[in-house]
Amino acid sequence: MLHPRVTNPRVWIAGAGVSGSFLALRLRKLGYSATIWHAPFSRYKAVESVPRKVALLLKEVAGSDCIPQIERAMLSEFYCFERSAFAECLLKKAIDAGVELKSAHDMPANWDLYCDVLIDATGRAAAWSGPVKRLGREIADLFEMPVDRRGMDRQIVATEAFWAYKVATSNQVTIGVISRHQKNTATAIQEAFRRFGINPAEARFVSRRFCSPQWALTPLAKHRLSVGDAAFAYYPLAGMGVNFALTTAMAAAAVLHTRWRCPAPCDIADEYYVELCEAARISHLTTLRGAREAASVSLVGLLVFSAKEVITGVQRGGFVVPEKAYLLADGSKVRWLGSVDLSQVRDLAHIPVSRAHLVEKLTKTLPERTNVQVLIEWCIQHKLLTSGS
Ligand SMILES: Cc1cc2nc3c(=O)[nH]c(=O)nc-3n(C[C@H](O)[C@H](O)[C@H](O)COP(=O)(O)OP(=O)(O)OC[C@H]3O[C@@H](n4cnc5c(N)ncnc54)[C@H](O)[C@@H]3O)c2cc1C
Repeated sequence: MLHPRVTNPRVWIAGAGVSGSFLALRLRKLGYSATIWHAPFSRYKAVESVPRKVALLLKEVAGSDCIPQIERAMLSEFYCFERSAFAECLLKKAIDAGVELKSAHDMPANWDLYCDVLIDATGRAAAWSGPVKRLGREIADLFEMPVDRRGMDRQIVATEAFWAYKVATSNQVTIGVISRHQKNTATAIQEAFRRFGINPAEARFVSRRFCSPQWALTPLAKHRLSVGDAAFAYYPLAGMGVNFALTTAMAAAAVLHTRWRCPAPCDIADEYYVELCEAARISHLTTLRGAREAASVSLVGLLVFSAKEVITGVQRGGFVVPEKAYLLADGSKVRWLGSVDLSQVRDLAHIPVSRAHLVEKLTKTLPERTNVQVLIEWCIQHKLLTSGS
């Protein structure tokens, strides 16, 4: 798909959650203007948590003054924040940076007559991203309660019938109860409170949310891009939703920048975006299904890197440029797993090697914090590493 260079593109963003405001900020940094269509009063308050690397990405784009909204959970690598205050902070930053804010009630239905691209950042509503596919119909009941002396540590309890989490900032505690069978929600909630040692009279119901994984079948079209939950919504156990919202916002800005400013044909940018969404979905659904594939590969046998090398798009300095990557069994492509360059795994296992040898070599090569066993499991699950004997 070729996109002619556009000098003053009109970007409309539907949704003022994390992904919408973050994308608007990123576009301003790249020199574009944008309008956010905001549905007021639809936010709910709840504490969520993100891994440390997400706080760093935020600092890069939004500046460090959004960080006070995020508090580091005690004794952990997670940062906790109240989601509506955090989204509000990002929206304010976007407005201060010159982004226009309008009420979603006034948005014309025939948006394509007025803008060059519409960003669907409406979360799980995925209002412009249909058709959407869902895996399951699990529901989360969210409660808030006053801060207790037990602190800000994250806790999870699980049974056959439900799992529940408790997460807190210094001034708010959220309890989420995810029931596997909707008939038993009342019993699940009671039991979750009992296990956390919470008096139900202290807790106040906040909201009921769908939480099974869901994804847009086409996260990118010629005049529409879906970001965050509208593109792919994670199951909350992963704690990856905000990370994905920010990652897709950055990527969507790079795709548009490449479409509009890159002199060469830029199909690779569009392909890159679709693959980014697919890779996240496949990786998450594979993790949820468990490591069945991994179990079938012997722990003591030889492993060989057998994925095919291909050329794909990657983000560099706000643009999407071609770079080598590895083809997964389902046709999607991957080069980086977090901060790990998979070509390093390929270099060490291009001929069959024992798992023990590979672990030893990777431990020496990769940064100290890398969990090499998890990396190898992931490569086996995704068939980058296969049995070499
Ligand atoms: C129970 C639960 C717990 C979670 N816990 C975590 C966690 O601990 N860590 C984590 O990283 N993620 C967590 N998530 C996921 C995380 O909340 C989302 O991934 C993240 O908020 C997605 O951001 P978003 O901007 O894409 O969507 P949202 O934050 O949902 O924002 C979408 C915005 O669009 C607006 N909107 C909707 N329809 C329209 C419309 N028609 N027009 C205009 N605006 C519209 C909405 O009002 C909202 O403001 C959790 C999710 C659930 C359900």
